[in-house]
Amino acid sequence: MLGLTLGGLMAKKLDGKKLAKEIEHRLKDVISSNLHVAGRSPGLAVLRIGNDPASGVYVSNKEKACSRIGVKSFGSHIEGETSTEGLSKIIHELNNNENVDGILLQLPVPLGVDETALLEVISPNKDADGLHTLNLGRLLKGESGPRSCTPAGVMALLKNNQIQVEGKKAVVIGRSILVGKPMALMLQEANATVTIAHSKTRNLVELTKEAEILIVAAGKPQMIGCEHIRPDAVVVDVGIHRVPSKESDGHTISYNLCGDVRFQEVESIASAITPVPGGVGPMTVAMLLVNTVSMWRDHCGLSFNLRDMLL
Ligand code: NAD
Repeated sequence: MLGLTLGGLMAKKLDGKKLAKEIEHRLKDVISSNLHVAGRSPGLAVLRIGNDPASGVYVSNKEKACSRIGVKSFGSHIEGETSTEGLSKIIHELNNNENVDGILLQLPVPLGVDETALLEVISPNKDADGLHTLNLGRLLKGESGPRSCTPAGVMALLKNNQIQVEGKKAVVIGRSILVGKPMALMLQEANATVTIAHSKTRNLVELTKEAEILIVAAGKPQMIGCEHIRPDAVVVDVGIHRVPSKESDGHTISYNLCGDVRFQEVESIASAITPVPGGVGPMTVAMLLVNTVSMWRDHCGLSFNLRDMLL
């Protein structure tokens, strides 16, 4: 698994960009070969509420991916409406729109909007992000249903790189509904022995040093370094942060991306590591497409199997 460089042994880079591209090719083929029976393209609505600039980039990436494979976008950018009731009405309309197979609420939503309530309004069979209570319950029980995209993307990346999960000690840093909790459930489903660390965990280093698989989703730029890593661990960095780069006069000129892990330090200790960008991010988008195309299949009574792409 290790790659040899001039400097010595370095961790293998888990290339999410490449795998996401392969998944897109496969989905594009599946869509075009079933289009005549379905009578319509798959449809995805991505709802962006407010003006968070990072969300703008993520939504645009998702819509571009849709257009690459033949999924129609029904998304909207809702700038004015920030009442939970008004937004619920918009989601209800999408629930009733027969051309829409998946609905995704881009998180975070602005202050004052009830994210939990809105996620519940999305019909469970259009829940492109797998965050409805029913679908999280299905994950808990090992039943099929749309899976949370980011953790599903991590599992696909591990599987595709032949990283054995069964029997391994895995530590997940973070316990959010979006990433940490479903991630821990998926690793457990794949027979890892899983520990969840969070903001109140004492002695984080002691825990992470034991991890054969370490998933970092704390949302804290560069918090994990070589002191946290067991030699030969597999390290997955879910964090993504836009760091402004400044001109000498102090003005922001552009943004660079970084993760929760200090990549350069960790890559000389780990056996495998995801880069930021190009690791988990593209896999999240790929899994959103897998969920959408799977729901299109179910809504249109088609039969093809994408289960091998999921856990
Ligand atoms: P969140 O803020 O909801 O949750 C962070 C979790 O980390 C919390 O459970 C908290 O208890 C834990 N935590 C915080 N500080 C900690 C510390 N010092 N030690 C241990 N645990 C700590 O964030 P989230 O929505 O789960 O996202 C996490 C990160 O992943 C963010 O950077 C987010 O931008 C990123 N993200 C990336 C993708 C992607 O596609 N790459 C998708 C979703 C989220």
